[in-house]
Amino acid sequence: MPLIQSALDKVSPNVVADVAITALLIYWLFSVIRGTRAVRLVIGVCLLLVVYAAAVTFDLKLLKVILQTSAYVGLFALVVVFQPELRRALDRIGRLGSLAWLISPAEQSTAVHVATEVASAAERLSREGHGALIVLERETGLQEIAENGVMLHADISADLLVTLFSPKTPLHDGAVVIRGDRILAAGALLPSAETTIPLERFGTRHKAALGMTEQTDAIVVVVSEESGQISLVERARIVRNLDEPRLARALAALLRPQAAGIFRQEKTPARRVGPTVRELARRARFGGLNRPAGASHKLPVVPGDPAEGQEKAS
Ligand code: ATP
Ligand code: MG
Repeated sequence: MPLIQSALDKVSPNVVADVAITALLIYWLFSVIRGTRAVRLVIGVCLLLVVYAAAVTFDLKLLKVILQTSAYVGLFALVVVFQPELRRALDRIGRLGSLAWLISPAEQSTAVHVATEVASAAERLSREGHGALIVLERETGLQEIAENGVMLHADISADLLVTLFSPKTPLHDGAVVIRGDRILAAGALLPSAETTIPLERFGTRHKAALGMTEQTDAIVVVVSEESGQISLVERARIVRNLDEPRLARALAALLRPQAAGIFRQEKTPARRVGPTVRELARRARFGGLNRPAGASHKLPVVPGDPAEGQEKAS
C-alpha cells in the first residue's frame, strides 16, 4: 500500500500529459506508416535495438562500436530512402492547423453538389466507354499540378466533365483538377506512384491516381476506358466497381469540410452523408495496395448491396 501511495504521489498532471501526448504521437506515427514499407523498417530497427541492448549487457565492444557507428549513417540513409513517407507525415502535421472544421454549412451543400455532378459524369462516361481521371483537391494545394495542364476556372457541371473527357478532343488526355465547386484545370499530368508496393496489375491511369493520393490528400475518381469500371482512390487505397449513387455518397462524405482532420479516418462522425472510402474498402475487402500479390480481386457480395461483387482483375 505505501508503495502504491508513493507512486501515486509522484504522478503529477505534467507526467500524465507527457505520457498521453507520447502515446498519441506513437499512435499517429503508426497510423501514418500503416500499410507502407516503413512498417518493415520499424520492425528492423526494433530488432537492431534488441541486438544493441544485448551487446551492452554482455559488453560486446566490437558489436557495440559497429552498431553505434552505423546508427549515424543509417539516420541519413533513412531520410533519403523514406523521403515520400516523411513528406506525407509533414503534410499531415501541416493539416493539423487547418480551420476547415469551422467552415459554414454552405460548404456542406457545395460538397454534395460537387459529389453529385462528378458521380453523374462518371456514370455517363462509364456508359459511353470513355476513360476519365478526376482529381478533387482537399487540404493539399494542387496549383502546381493544375498549372501543368490547361487552366479553366469553370463552374463544375457533369456536362462539362463529360465533354472534357470526350475522345478526340484536345483536353481529354490527362486529369481534370477540381477545387471547391470549380473545374480548375484539364489535361493535367499527375505524378506517378513512388511506392515500392507492386503496381504491375494497374494501368497508367490507375497508377497515376494511386501516386497522386499517395503524395497528397486529394480524392481521385477514375473511369476505366477498358472496362468502364468506376473507382474511387484516397490515400493510395482504391475502391472499384462503384455505381453513381455509391460514388456520390462516398464523395460527399469525403469532401465534407470536417473530413480533412488528421484522425479523420479513425472516426465515424454523426453527420455522415455516406460511407467513406475506408468503409467501402472494408466492405469490399479490396484493401488497396496492401493485398499480397496474387490475391483474389473478387469483391465479396454484401447483403443488400447489389453493386458489389463484380470486380474484374485489371
Ligand atoms: P484504362 O482502364 O482506362 O485503360 P489504365 O489504368 O489501364 O486505364 P492506360 O490505359 O494506360 O491506363 O490509360 C492511359 C491514359 O491515362 C492516358 O491516355 C492518359 O489520359 C491517362 N494518364 C495516364 N497516366 C497519367 C498521368 N500520370 N497523369 C494524367 N493522366 C494520365
Ligand atoms: Mg489501359
